[in-house]
Amino acid sequence: MFSRLRDALRSDLETPRHERPWGTGWISGVAGLLLACAGLFFVLELHFPAQLTLPPLRESYGSAWFRIGLHLLLLAAFTLSAVSLILRTNKVLGLTAMVITLAATALGGSRVDSPEVGESGVYLGLDWFVLNLAFTGLLFVPLERLFPRRREQQLFRAEWREDLFYYLVSSLFAQVLTLISMAPTTAILAHTRWTELRAWVGGQWVWLQVLEIMFLTDLVQYWVHRMFHQVPALWEFHAVHHSATSLDWMASARMHVLEIIVLRGTTVIPMFVLGFTEVAIYAYLLLVYLYSSLVHANVGWNFNRIGWLVVTPRFHHWHHGIDREAIDVNFAIHFPLFDRLFGTYYLPRDAWPSGYGVGGHPVPRGYWQQFLHPFRRKTRSND
Ligand SMILES: [Zn+2]
Ligand SMILES: [Zn+2]
Repeated sequence: MFSRLRDALRSDLETPRHERPWGTGWISGVAGLLLACAGLFFVLELHFPAQLTLPPLRESYGSAWFRIGLHLLLLAAFTLSAVSLILRTNKVLGLTAMVITLAATALGGSRVDSPEVGESGVYLGLDWFVLNLAFTGLLFVPLERLFPRRREQQLFRAEWREDLFYYLVSSLFAQVLTLISMAPTTAILAHTRWTELRAWVGGQWVWLQVLEIMFLTDLVQYWVHRMFHQVPALWEFHAVHHSATSLDWMASARMHVLEIIVLRGTTVIPMFVLGFTEVAIYAYLLLVYLYSSLVHANVGWNFNRIGWLVVTPRFHHWHHGIDREAIDVNFAIHFPLFDRLFGTYYLPRDAWPSGYGVGGHPVPRGYWQQFLHPFRRKTRSND
């Protein structure tokens, strides 16, 4: 019953664009469903703030504005699902959205009495998932729609569920991932003083510090990334990121959890141990957060003029290319200079790769299969 409903919902979400023209209730249904899910998650967060929310965001949930916002959100979800139910012949989207909205309301809606939260231990970032997805989605969905690289590619394209699940996992486990990734940095900080160096680094203009962080981070990232390509055992982890056959902002989330830890654990070292100020570090983190979605996005700008200086979507799309000339090129994530220096630069004017993914498609589908993939014994072919 549940799997039939899931399949019906999935197939309606994936309806080809030409089969759902304006006025057929698809957009209202999808919008209603997204708002309903967000509303339900917020209601659950109000019930269990200590378990489901990030401490810095927690305080805002008590405010009247948040309650009013949540009330309006549920109202909008209700209205949109009703509109979809009226317009759309296939009722699965509208009905699901409506049931989720009603469940959120039955669970207390915007009037939930939140328990007091003292010091909390382990928590999941369900709120971070909603905000993360809403923020990047609102930014990149219109951008990809207006300036697409592949016009035929839809929001609910092949393997969107996997990538959404990657988003969910990395947001939910933000606390533990940060804790583990910061371990090497914390160890270095505990054993070093470098007072003069740190004072000097932190005393520079903020924009210069951000630029230096970009440069140092990318230098580390370049070699760690290249290692992930060239050491066979590590490649099995990184192949998961490269297994995406459609690139868009959501594909940036697809990364094996172990790679996230190694990549973050090493790249954050320079920015935290050299004494850069908090403002510069946060500015950089915001930048890299947007940048990593942008370079994967399905946007068709060629950026021929600046492509040699900074990493553009086309540069990183070549890194994901399935063509022979795209293998092991363009490892940098900010400055193509590193690829020029170390002999891995490839960016032909105006051209894009013919497709994306790993040749022979050795990586299985689905989050858990991909999680296990690097640990499985491989049957090697003789070629
Ligand atoms: Zn790579
Ligand atoms: Zn990538």
